[in-house]
Amino acid sequence: MGHTTVTPTAPATTIQSSVSSTPNLVAATGLAKDCAGCGKRITERFLLKALDIFWHEDCLKCGCCDCRLGEVGSTLYTKANLILCKRDYLRLFGTTGYCAACNKVIPAFEMVMRAKNNVYHLECFACQQCNHR
Ligand SMILES: [Zn+2]
Ligand SMILES: [Zn+2]
Ligand SMILES: [Zn+2]
Repeated sequence: MGHTTVTPTAPATTIQSSVSSTPNLVAATGLAKDCAGCGKRITERFLLKALDIFWHEDCLKCGCCDCRLGEVGSTLYTKANLILCKRDYLRLFGTTGYCAACNKVIPAFEMVMRAKNNVYHLECFACQQCNHR
């Protein structure tokens, strides 16, 4: 054969909004599935099904802290093609609170200044500093 066509086998998962899912362990009876994590064939007797795709038990990990999400009963979250544990999901996509200076919401991934019981955007805190000169 003169040419080889490489077809990507990974499912095209375009996840726009955040989804939470509980992984299920299913018996691989007659199923030959490719792992969505490493792309290799899953030959184990059990495979994980999460988000309608299949994973090695070891491959379903949080994209942030690498903790295993395959444990039964654990919930995983996905947003923007990231798979995250609950803790990291909240840290990245939750909110820290409201800025005490401008009253706008502060996303949890943003650096903040904390003073007493208040949180500030970095910029907002700097302005306050100017005012206090
Ligand atoms: Zn894998
Ligand atoms: Zn994590
Ligand atoms: Zn602010």
